[in-house]
Amino acid sequence: MRFDIISVLPGLLESPFAHSILQRAQKKGISEIVVHNLRDYATNKQKSVDDYPYGGGSGMVMTIPPFAACIEKLKSERDYDDIIFMSPDGETLNQRIANQLSIKKNIIILCGHYKGIDQRIRDIYVTREISIGDYVLSGGELPAAVLVDAVVRLIPGVLSDETSALSDSFQDDLLDAPVYTRPADWNGHKVPDILLGGNTPEIEKWRHEQALERTKARRPDLLDKGE
Ligand code: SAH
Repeated sequence: MRFDIISVLPGLLESPFAHSILQRAQKKGISEIVVHNLRDYATNKQKSVDDYPYGGGSGMVMTIPPFAACIEKLKSERDYDDIIFMSPDGETLNQRIANQLSIKKNIIILCGHYKGIDQRIRDIYVTREISIGDYVLSGGELPAAVLVDAVVRLIPGVLSDETSALSDSFQDDLLDAPVYTRPADWNGHKVPDILLGGNTPEIEKWRHEQALERTKARRPDLLDKGE
C-alpha cells in the first residue's frame, strides 16, 4: 500500500515513519510512504503556497496551483483509491475507517496549514475528509501521521503477531482487556490467578468478560452501536 503525503513542512513527517512498526512495514515492502514538499510545486518567484483570504478576515489560505500540480503529477503516475484531506470538519477517524483504508492500494493525503486550503481543492480533488478529533492543530502533518499509523498496522504481515491487532480496542466494538507481564507479584499487587494457570479457553473467556466490563464502564456507546 502506498501513501503520498503532500505537505509544506515535510520535515515534520520524517520521524513518525522512521521507527518501529511503520519503519518495518516499509522495509518489508508492505507499505511505501512518500512525502512531497508542496513548495517544490509552487511556480511563483517567492515559492509561496498561501495567500490572503477573499472577503478579508484573519489567517492565510493555501492556494490551488501547488496542490493541483502535485496531485496531477501523482495521478499521471498511478491510480489513486482516495485523495484524503486532513481537516477538523471531516468525519472523525475511528477503527472502522482505518480498516476500510487498510485494504486500499494508493492514497494521497493533503495536509493543510494556516486557515486551511482553498475550498475548490476540496471540491475538485478530495474524495474523503478525515478529522482526528474535535480540536484544532496547527497543521495536517500530525493528523496524517496518526492516520497512516492506524492504517498500516492493520495491513496483514505488518504486525509480527497479527492476532494482536484483531484483539485491540474497537476491533469488535470492544475495548481491550487489561494486560500484565512479569513479575507476577509487585509489592503485593498480584497478576490475576487465571492468567498464571495456562488454561487457554478459560483465559480467553476471562479476557472477553474483562473487555466487556471495561467497555460497559467506559464506553457504553460502543455496545449500543453493536446491537
Ligand atoms: N480553520 C480550520 C482549521 C485550520 S487548522 C477550521 O477551523 O476548520 C490548519 C490545518 O491543520 C487544517 O487545514 C488541517 O489540515 C489540519 N488540522 C487541524 N486540526 C485537525 C484535526 N483535528 N484533524 C485533522 N486535521 C487537522
